[in-house]
Amino acid sequence: MDPVRASARDIARAVNAREISAVEIAETMIPHVASVDEHLGAYLTLTPDLMREHARRVDARIAAGESLPLAGVPAAIKDNMCLLGTRTTCASKILEHWIAPYTGTAVARLLDAGALPIGKTNMDEFAMGSSGENSALGKTKNPYDLDRVPGGSSAGSASAVGGFAATISTGSDTGGSIREPAAFCNVVGFKPTYGRVSRYGLIAFASSLDQIGPFARSVEDAAMTYDAMGGHDPMDATSVDMPFETTAGHLREDLRGVRVGIVKEFATSDLAPDVAAAYEKAYADLAALGAELVEVELPTAKYGLSTYYLIAPAECSSNLARFDGVRYGLRVDGADVGEMYEKTRAAGFGPEVKRRILIGTYALSSGYYDAYYVKAQKARTRIADDFRRAFAKCDVIASPAASSPAFAFNAKSDPYSMYLMDYYTIPVSLAGLPSLSIPCGSALPEGGSRPMPLGLQLASPLFSERALLGYAHAYERATQHAAKLAPVQVVTS
Ligand code: GLN
Repeated sequence: MDPVRASARDIARAVNAREISAVEIAETMIPHVASVDEHLGAYLTLTPDLMREHARRVDARIAAGESLPLAGVPAAIKDNMCLLGTRTTCASKILEHWIAPYTGTAVARLLDAGALPIGKTNMDEFAMGSSGENSALGKTKNPYDLDRVPGGSSAGSASAVGGFAATISTGSDTGGSIREPAAFCNVVGFKPTYGRVSRYGLIAFASSLDQIGPFARSVEDAAMTYDAMGGHDPMDATSVDMPFETTAGHLREDLRGVRVGIVKEFATSDLAPDVAAAYEKAYADLAALGAELVEVELPTAKYGLSTYYLIAPAECSSNLARFDGVRYGLRVDGADVGEMYEKTRAAGFGPEVKRRILIGTYALSSGYYDAYYVKAQKARTRIADDFRRAFAKCDVIASPAASSPAFAFNAKSDPYSMYLMDYYTIPVSLAGLPSLSIPCGSALPEGGSRPMPLGLQLASPLFSERALLGYAHAYERATQHAAKLAPVQVVTS
């Protein structure tokens, strides 16, 4: 077995069967990742010593008779998730040297299930962005074209898995930050229902939207990772206390009897012609698997972006108030405490984070609160209602995951064109629904020389993770799109 290319399922099976040890896997992955990452820039911190320590622990537990669902599976962790004793930066200057004092729940559960921590991955600063370019600490590249962005905000987590520099990884998704980079990097990216995976130890961006989920190269691996991370956690007040349905053992082979909603307002004519053709083909493939395609309406989805860009900045302006030089990370001294706050925040935050804090503070200020924030909350409710009505007619909604394939670095100079990348993912996030992106073909992008991957977004009713991953598995099994593209040579050699 080649630990670099193998699936999480095959690695865990082999390690549990003692055909290969977790230590052998770690010793293969450590030099491999170090050399590939010189090209990808997916990681901000590599943790080889910790990886070896966990590998020894996994081997000891298996020797003692335990069986671990993710035994020996190399895993990358987004750098907004706390890992005890490890730098956790959110790709921001303000936390550049901050060491996490504890391990968050989702990460702790992954490691307890036998996963081996390779390192912490680059991201848009505080998870604000759709390309990875808002990182203050490094540039992550797309493994399918090094001149193109990996997507964001979970840039490094998607790039590492797509580029075989991790088997699985964790991401966080507030408005699309798992699904959009998954689409760009030819991998599966899954955002569970809001409340399914604990946010304890996830550095908050917009707390009513943030959700942790996995990246993997197959639906089954994503399901196994989700099964390990998910479930109630008393340390997160928004974690749902209801029975947790595991998913990996319940994946389907066909779509007979499944009604797939195609959204009237998401016309493929809005897309570049070959991108549109790929999505038309994807919908036809769903039908060929036995699904019934039905048209559904989401008339308020067009308000998704404006709603999100009030609610998310409002929550971010409140959450990021804690970074003031007193307790966490960077401090720039001033003549008095007020000047210290100002200097620290001016030096510590990048331009996009400052833009969000300004918008959010404005939207929450007295006098504007009702006009902006309250109105956005009402629009959010209407969007969720639209989805509820749509799900009376269908079991799952299919759409593009992103507005285009991966674009070139510096191609989106104004913030609004960047925000538009999440046109399809944001309404789903506002409704809190489980949703994923799965490879569904490729298209030659504007100015590109290589066909770039595309992602199909599937979204389903609240808490229907098991069904959703099942549909995605049936589609993956029949189409096998991920295997039709290969990362660039420097990554594979
Ligand atoms: N791209 C969106 C934003 O910039 C979503 C980010 C996310 O999901 N964390 O806010």
